[in-house]
Amino acid sequence: MAKLLLGCIADDFTGATDLANNLVRAGMRVVQAIGVPEARRAGPPQASARPLGGQRGHEVPSVGAEFAPLAADVDAVVVALKSRTIAPAEAIAQSLEALRWLQAQGAQQIYFKYCSTFDSTPQGNIGPVTEALMEALKCDFTIATPAFPDNKRTVFKGYLFAGEVLLNESGMQNHPLTPMTDPNLVRVLQAQCTRKVGLIDHAVVARGAAAITERIGQFKGEGVSIAIVDAVSNDDLLRLGPALAKMPLVTAGSGVAIGLPANFGLAPSSQASALPAAGGLRAVVSGSCSLATNRQVLDFIQRGGAALAVDPLRIAAGVDVAAEALAWAAPLVEKQPVLVYSTAEAGAVKSVQSRLGVEEAGAMVERTIAAIARGLVERGVRQLVVAGGETSGACVQALGIAQMQIGPQIDPGVPWCHARSDAAPGAGLHIALKSGNFGGDDFFTKAFTVLG
Ligand code: ADP
Repeated sequence: MAKLLLGCIADDFTGATDLANNLVRAGMRVVQAIGVPEARRAGPPQASARPLGGQRGHEVPSVGAEFAPLAADVDAVVVALKSRTIAPAEAIAQSLEALRWLQAQGAQQIYFKYCSTFDSTPQGNIGPVTEALMEALKCDFTIATPAFPDNKRTVFKGYLFAGEVLLNESGMQNHPLTPMTDPNLVRVLQAQCTRKVGLIDHAVVARGAAAITERIGQFKGEGVSIAIVDAVSNDDLLRLGPALAKMPLVTAGSGVAIGLPANFGLAPSSQASALPAAGGLRAVVSGSCSLATNRQVLDFIQRGGAALAVDPLRIAAGVDVAAEALAWAAPLVEKQPVLVYSTAEAGAVKSVQSRLGVEEAGAMVERTIAAIARGLVERGVRQLVVAGGETSGACVQALGIAQMQIGPQIDPGVPWCHARSDAAPGAGLHIALKSGNFGGDDFFTKAFTVLG
């Protein structure tokens, strides 16, 4: 196997795809691994990746196949963890496990990826995981910047802006799990670290890679080991890239990724997103109730698409809704893409939640949509769109998917992927995982045109 250029550890699932998508667009061939891949064990068939922590009790199906080796030509792997809000010690343990696996693949540089809103609590996990990785890599200096100008996340004088406003005015101050009340990233990170945190400010970044490298040298002399880096444009990130060439560890949102492939002599190319040829039947399953997904479902129906709504109350009443949906889909999917959805507007969702409970309703619907996704694939669907972040996690697990090769982008942040699954023996399937508010109104139609 060729040596991995970049080994990435992402602290959540959709964040991993976001990073993978940026790397592909900058010229790398990328595989996303769902959890830390395990070596094949002797004995009965095993799931080939450790389940993501924190998932709501999804069964991990047996895959019955050994962990698929990485494609010989892959340039980067993104290991998707779910470590953003778990206890720091557990986040460190999972991240170090991912590191060991990436090192075993020969990764030349490690990238720790977190959210572009720097989602963390006073305990971490960005700081503790960064320091544990530095220790393990014997790395005396790294950077930290969530800047992602394409997504309107910019850092100036160490302050993080989301769109036109400071982070703590963006709504993130009210986040239920990781409220961000201080926009000053030097302060935020310093509170989570024992090492000294500094700032490479925009005046230095604007002067280019040599100036950044010089500043890093000064910092090392002053005992500063981690630097927040200002970036307000993609040009800033491209200037930063060369200064990171020799750094064993980079920590960032997904934005910094656009400047790294060039360090390995790679430039954007259509080769990077090439996937095996697509075939088979086409379907969409949606468990997302976000506004964008509601529009996408409506658009698909208004275009005359074949669509079936799943009613959570019938699931709760013990009806085998998955079997019903599969029986409905069987004759239709032979001729056209089908959509099975539990997507509903806020009022309807609230009413279901008040009768069944938020968690219970969510888990029940996720299980049903995942069973439908698996049933569709078992019946020949080989191009599957899944809408919903949690729903995607449930479907990926039900399909026994351990790795996805990242392909062409459908809409910003949502690429087609190719994966092996025991439900799709042989050539595997194409799958697109769309988190709630991503994608244009015509996403469910457009997606299939992108694969040709
Ligand atoms: P998004 O990415 O839009 O947030 P998710 O899949 O992450 O979508 O979350 C949607 C949650 O809502 C899931 O737990 C899903 O099972 C649940 N859900 C889907 N449809 C309904 C419904 N009609 N009523 C109640 N809960 C639902």
